[in-house]
Amino acid sequence: MVTDPVPVKGNRRKEYERSDGLKSLAVPNEDRFHAPEIEAALSSESTGALRTACSTFLAEAARFYGVPKPKVRVLAARPLKVYETGSMELFGDYDLKTSVIRVWTRTAIRHRVTSFGTFFSTLCHEFCHHLDLHLFGIPTSPHTRGFYERTAVLYHHCRGTPPRRLVWLPFGRGRFRIDWARMR
Ligand SMILES: [Zn+2]
Repeated sequence: MVTDPVPVKGNRRKEYERSDGLKSLAVPNEDRFHAPEIEAALSSESTGALRTACSTFLAEAARFYGVPKPKVRVLAARPLKVYETGSMELFGDYDLKTSVIRVWTRTAIRHRVTSFGTFFSTLCHEFCHHLDLHLFGIPTSPHTRGFYERTAVLYHHCRGTPPRRLVWLPFGRGRFRIDWARMR
């Protein structure tokens, strides 16, 4: 996890700073938005079941946060070359213009099924881009420390795992990466 470069000035800079300052995310007491059903669907290797489970999760989460439900495309192998207008991750992306989330269940090269942890953290990550646009009013949705902290809160809540404090290491020009050595 690496943060985006800090924009020099203007609205992008303001949005970046706002995103970085929002370190937490409200979550319900009990409701995990049906996340465990995604794990079952992923291990069943049925794309239809996985699509339904992801769609249910996103609908429940969107309802809680009072945002429109994002569309989701669950795809098999990630193509080697992808063109997108939004942000890009290894296992998914979010289109900032159309609010469509895409997630891949297999890696492009080895065609191995993505682990549930990786798959679900990608889905939470993309949903947090959606929250930036529709809840926090941060249309550029940059990858800041705050963004990753919010994603981690959502991820751990929905998996029912204890939240972890992220340890950041600066590496120049205002950017940070996770210090995995100190996280362990
Ligand atoms: Zn992203």
